[in-house]
Amino acid sequence: MSRVEHIVFDLDGTLYEQTPVILGVIYDKMLTTLADYLRIKEPGKWSKLSKIGDAYLEYYGQLKSHTEAFKMFKVPDEEAKRLATQAFNEADIERYLGQDNKLLALLDRLDNRNVPYGLYTGRWKETGDDVLKKLGIPSLKRLAWAEFGDKYPKSMGTTEGFKQSLWNANGQLRDRYEKKLKHDRENGIKIRRKPYSFNPKNVWYVGDREDMEIKPALKVGMSVVRVCREFGPPFYDKVASDPADNSDPREEQKSWKPNHLLFQRKEPDHYLIRDIYSLGVLVDHLLDLKDSGPYKLLPKSDKKL
Ligand SMILES: [Mg+2]
Repeated sequence: MSRVEHIVFDLDGTLYEQTPVILGVIYDKMLTTLADYLRIKEPGKWSKLSKIGDAYLEYYGQLKSHTEAFKMFKVPDEEAKRLATQAFNEADIERYLGQDNKLLALLDRLDNRNVPYGLYTGRWKETGDDVLKKLGIPSLKRLAWAEFGDKYPKSMGTTEGFKQSLWNANGQLRDRYEKKLKHDRENGIKIRRKPYSFNPKNVWYVGDREDMEIKPALKVGMSVVRVCREFGPPFYDKVASDPADNSDPREEQKSWKPNHLLFQRKEPDHYLIRDIYSLGVLVDHLLDLKDSGPYKLLPKSDKKL
């Protein structure tokens, strides 16, 4: 039986790669937002701004969060969250994005394998739609978006937000199963078992960030796939040339072996892929998987044990 019943995608850093240029555009927008907040506008204060810029980069490098970096400049918590979200959404990255035919092919492949999918992102709906349009995806079922002014129930990184996207995915699945049930009844097909019982493990979250995406998704019981683009060609070349060379300090990189070209299993409910396009191969693998770790099927005679 299939263990991939639904896929929930993150948007930024997952459906498109956050290249250094894109990260630079986001950083610039963060910095001008912070400068506005700190009222540094006069040209005479530019040197101060560049010092702030350096400090900001350092904080961001350590904290990996724009909200947390804002707080280091004494921006109050709520305001820091609001400003960082706004700057992220308003950063003009769209001009660096274009139609991604390989991504469209991936979505086609999921359609062909009858796996429904949707989006759960920390972005606002309007800017999320703009990004999707740029990638060439005019419509992607949205399962949850962050909303401006929310007290974060739908924001990334919160259990509430992930629960919501999970239940919305479940709603989509329910529609599908009800349709199938109706079809079977109308066609006189005998229904042998319950058409659907909800199992969060069969809903797969695909994201890029461990802290904001992967961990909370696991916490609400979903299975996860992490896009690990830092395992790019230079890393692969190194491993391929000398599999015993484990000099890279990053643990996940160490465990990436040449025979795991496109994906690897970290846990039964936790996979890593090198880029989003590899998801199609992973899904095919999971759908065809009959024997997997703790999900191992017992032979019929052992069932009573
Ligand atoms: Mg992301």
